[in-house]
Amino acid sequence: MREKLIELPYEYDALKPSISQQVLEWHHDTHHQGYVNGVNTAEEKLEQQREDGDFSNTGSLLNSFTHNYAGTVLHEIFWQNMSPNGGGRPGGSLMEKIEEDFGSYEAWKKEFKAAASSASGWALLVYIPRHDELHNVAVDRHDEGAVWGAHPVLALDVWEHSYYHDYGPARGEFIDGFFDVVDWSDVSERFEEVR
Ligand code: MN
Repeated sequence: MREKLIELPYEYDALKPSISQQVLEWHHDTHHQGYVNGVNTAEEKLEQQREDGDFSNTGSLLNSFTHNYAGTVLHEIFWQNMSPNGGGRPGGSLMEKIEEDFGSYEAWKKEFKAAASSASGWALLVYIPRHDELHNVAVDRHDEGAVWGAHPVLALDVWEHSYYHDYGPARGEFIDGFFDVVDWSDVSERFEEVR
């Protein structure tokens, strides 16, 4: 498997003031690209060691694959979850399911913001088919706290590279800014696809 960096579905300055052009350029072109490269490098080395029959470095290569692959997947969802025309609230069956599983949209949002405030990586809203349930997840790095069999439908990157240049330590303001650009139609499509 080889990964490629996806293009942003909008211009670099399109998410201002929630995310500045500078941060979007660094975040997409350098950080996300770095995870894509990391997956591909790990895969090449894993193939090479299978050919050579030398598995002395397997542990660190598999860890590198997992970290970079999770980073690649989550950044793709994060970019596509946002739009310059975003904001507002979810509708349709997604909103109904949020209300069913969390009590209300407000209750869900408070819990999600708490996850985003505490995580050293990502806050995710995931759908778990096994329970037919939406759940919030706080992830450290890209993969510590991953839930098997769960499908992320909303992903918020709270690594410092995601907001520090724009907001300094005021992560809560960044989280509020994110909600101003969430593209709920994309989130709903992801939910409908996996439900
Ligand atoms: Mn990131």
